Amino acid sequence: MKRGKKLYEGKAKIIYATNDKNLVIQYFKDDATAFNNQKKTIIEGKGVLNNRISEHILLNLSQIGIKNHLVKRLNMREQVIKLVEIIPIEFIVRNVATGSITKRLGIEDGTVLKEPLIEYCLKDDKLGDPLIAEEHIFAFDWATKKEIEKVKKMILRINDFMIGMFRGVGIKLIDFKLEFGRLKVNDKDEVILADEISPDTCRLWDSITDKKLDKDRFRKNLGDLIPAYTEVAKRLGILHEQSNVSVVNVTKLSSVKRKRK
Ligand code: UDP
Repeated sequence: MKRGKKLYEGKAKIIYATNDKNLVIQYFKDDATAFNNQKKTIIEGKGVLNNRISEHILLNLSQIGIKNHLVKRLNMREQVIKLVEIIPIEFIVRNVATGSITKRLGIEDGTVLKEPLIEYCLKDDKLGDPLIAEEHIFAFDWATKKEIEKVKKMILRINDFMIGMFRGVGIKLIDFKLEFGRLKVNDKDEVILADEISPDTCRLWDSITDKKLDKDRFRKNLGDLIPAYTEVAKRLGILHEQSNVSVVNVTKLSSVKRKRK
């Protein structure tokens, strides 16, 4: 499959057209951003790891019947995905309170929630992705009631599955962000899971030590982001021992190739 023109560039990914109007290529960049783009850097190898981890999780979710946009991974940095119309809401799912909710509501960091909590944020960088109520979604036609009912059911299944998957490899799933999109099927819109699920979009803590294995290493200047993401990939069985070296080497090779172009 050939990469066509650039359709969209986000903070961590680029979307390219293909020769099939229903499919696009999603390219994972090494850019890390936080606090609504105020903090930025490039972390070599991050895109490669997120591509692999997200592929692994979305393939597993397909197997339990969660329809999603992934068609196949093409190479170290690219996936072919179905073109969807993204619902402009970030669905935040929390099992343990940490991050913004602790500051916003004065909740003690690490408080385990009785039930998963779903929060909605409007996807709008200029406004800083503000928290909204479910009623706002319907008042401004960002999604229909039927779509949100379906999304909520999918979210709870995704959360159950992911809690179990990570628990099995000694990781606590603290919280994460999901996005959904509309796919035209026989002239009708079907809501499917879109975007990525990776340590950039989840908070993952080691079950025993509570060590952070996610983007908080960058947000909080803890360092060692690549070793943490590599640890997640290894525990999920995606990378094998000694693959640390190969991720970095392949990244270096691909950046050399890019520079030569
Ligand atoms: N999250 C994300 N993208 C965003 C906002 C949040 O992937 O634009 C993820 C974040 O990594 C965390 C969860 O959603 O796993 C909840 O984030 P929170 O609202 O606590 O945000 P933060 O504390 O980073 O502002």
